Amino acid sequence: AEDPRHVPNRAVIDPSAITQNTRALTGLLEEHTALMAVVKADGYGHGMLTAARAALEGGATWLGVAHPASALALSRAGLDVNILTWLYEPHTAETVLPEVISSGINVSVGSSAMLELVSAAARQADRRARVHLKIDTGMGRNGVLPEQVREIGAAMREDDFIEIAAAWTHLTDADDPSDPSTDQEVARFDSACEALEEEVGPIPLQHLANSAALLTRPDLHRDLVRPGIALYGYPPVPTDVPLRPAMTLTSRLALVKEVPEGTTIGYGRIRTTDRRTRLGLVPIGYADGLHRVASDRCEVLVRTASADSRALQVGRISMDQIVIDLGPDSDACAGDEVFLFGDAEGAPTGPAATTADDWARAAGTIPYEILTSVAGRVSREVR
Ligand code: PLP
Repeated sequence: AEDPRHVPNRAVIDPSAITQNTRALTGLLEEHTALMAVVKADGYGHGMLTAARAALEGGATWLGVAHPASALALSRAGLDVNILTWLYEPHTAETVLPEVISSGINVSVGSSAMLELVSAAARQADRRARVHLKIDTGMGRNGVLPEQVREIGAAMREDDFIEIAAAWTHLTDADDPSDPSTDQEVARFDSACEALEEEVGPIPLQHLANSAALLTRPDLHRDLVRPGIALYGYPPVPTDVPLRPAMTLTSRLALVKEVPEGTTIGYGRIRTTDRRTRLGLVPIGYADGLHRVASDRCEVLVRTASADSRALQVGRISMDQIVIDLGPDSDACAGDEVFLFGDAEGAPTGPAATTADDWARAAGTIPYEILTSVAGRVSREVR
């Protein structure tokens, strides 16, 4: 790996933003509802442990990750909270699940075969597995179909190594409050829970709300909510809840040069200058996580000795570099800081930085993908 001291590209993480975002979200919950901070995918690119600690400080009492290996890393770091992991396959399950279960980590089960894996691992660990039964209410991914719930419920009841800790699902369209599928999925979930309770007795916890459902559907908070993206400052639905981005992606100008009108820029020459101007070269590209498909339409913030100003990224995004149009009168020089997106802290009064939402719109994707695309060669720095 490159020595971060010698790389200008930094993802600066502000844990206090995650803490405050978590606090703002817990403020929306009834007393009995807990918050699981979803810190999968390395905390949506922010660093899993940084994100987890910050969220716990803000009132989260659960942590959720896809991979059992991530759950173990949280547990080994001494984070003494409830942890849930939900995605594994037989080859790795065999090696990882016994330790997961002996560490007291909650495990999701989404099929009869997964139940068998968990049961075998629990026997090996000689400890009951705390199982969250995942119901597939419309996603068609992980989870048992509602009509299979009775059968798997009976198998769980009869297994001394299985403790049923929760029933849960993940909604397909909660970010579109007008979409009727949410109510249909909730109805499927509720009838599956009823059927399950007839088999196994009362289910201690029910959970189904991601960030969007947390923000728009208080009736779906139930016992536990599972926000991810909102913790990092990007609500997936319009909201008055104050949330701010926790990641700022920065670089520095490698060179500035004045060019005449008619200068072509980058591969394919998709941009030609229409006036004399000053171009800035920024040593960050698609291999660092800037989506090439977002070429030639996103602004960045440049901090010069005199002011902060926005500059348009022009021409195709290359693997390691982009060009920005600083304008004919810019006083920007090599070494000046460039904010690709996030929160340009300490900005003198001037324009705000671009956000991961802006990049997502430009790339035709969602901020989740922008944040998790920031590559390993970009150093992470905690503010
Ligand atoms: N729960 C599960 C199972 C997830 O996979 C995710 C992320 O996609 C979340 C909760 C959090 O979703 P969001 O980031 O939209 O809040």
